Amino acid sequence: MVRYRNVWSKGSDNNNCLSMVDTLTRPERSARMSLIRAKNTGPERQIQKIVSGLSYRYQRHISDLPSKPDFVFPRIKKVVFVNGCFWHGHRCSLGRIPKSRVGFWTNKIDSNRERGVRNRRKLRRMGWKVLVIRECQLFDQAKIKTKLIQFLKKS
Ligand SMILES: [Zn+2]
Repeated sequence: MVRYRNVWSKGSDNNNCLSMVDTLTRPERSARMSLIRAKNTGPERQIQKIVSGLSYRYQRHISDLPSKPDFVFPRIKKVVFVNGCFWHGHRCSLGRIPKSRVGFWTNKIDSNRERGVRNRRKLRRMGWKVLVIRECQLFDQAKIKTKLIQFLKKS
């Protein structure tokens, strides 16, 4: 929900955004919103489960780091982002842009993606190692667990 609001409020023209909201029918809007809710909570929770079983101390959503990484491992200076495929424009089945208002969504998602790249670069310059996990990678839990462990172990 938080990200949903952020995206709308970051529009360059508020009136424009409002009229966009109005063009959604009620079922469309609730479908979109439940999709967003599911995508914001599910993947992070799954990663949290994996990470909690490992012996690394971590913190969630540290606001003084660029882009508020989802998982921060301060002792080893590593961060993990869990990115929803839709919001981060991943070219996979989960990242498909809706057929209506293509231009609008394309702009939003492009700017999300660019912001992500900029922030990851900032973090790396600050000496943090960054791992991005995409929502669709969670289909293979064993693989993602191995990937996480390798990332955390690596010096
Ligand atoms: Zn994906």
